[in-house]
Amino acid sequence: MNRRCPICRKPTDSETHADFPFCSERCRLLDLGNWASEKYVISEPAYDESMFEGLDPEAASSETDDQE
Ligand SMILES: [Zn+2]
Repeated sequence: MNRRCPICRKPTDSETHADFPFCSERCRLLDLGNWASEKYVISEPAYDESMFEGLDPEAASSETDDQE
């Protein structure tokens, strides 16, 4: 069965390539890395936003200013 490597577009063969459908282990790991980084980018913004809402330094300092 002939295919093309999804990473570098080289022709690959399921009978001769151990990392099929990738042409090499390097391309297989690159594809895994793409998946991991995509998941990381999607989940990070929601976490960052809630973190900043809880830690607003201006709101905290204005409260202490009123008491003096
Ligand atoms: Zn490749």
